[in-house]
Amino acid sequence: MESEKLPENSDAHHEHSSNCNGTITCKDCLDVLDMVIDQEESPTEAFKQHLKDCLPCLEKYNLDKAIKEILHKRCNHQELPPGLVDSIKLRIFDNAGS
Ligand SMILES: [Zn+2]
Repeated sequence: MESEKLPENSDAHHEHSSNCNGTITCKDCLDVLDMVIDQEESPTEAFKQHLKDCLPCLEKYNLDKAIKEILHKRCNHQELPPGLVDSIKLRIFDNAGS
């Protein structure tokens, strides 16, 4: 009698695994995410790969990028008041949540 084959890589690929293929963790990704968006840091291969594999980080990247682009257009590259980005994010998440 054949035993059923367990799906090895179905949902398990996102658990805490060692950084084998030069991949980075979500924390590493989020650490550089803002700098990459601000173009203070160029995205590494590992960073780009992580965004391909990790939807939450990709969504945060796209969201932050979109917000910053909007703000830059609106404010003509002036200094942004602190807290403005956060309040916009809260509004976006509010709308998405309900
Ligand atoms: Zn991630």
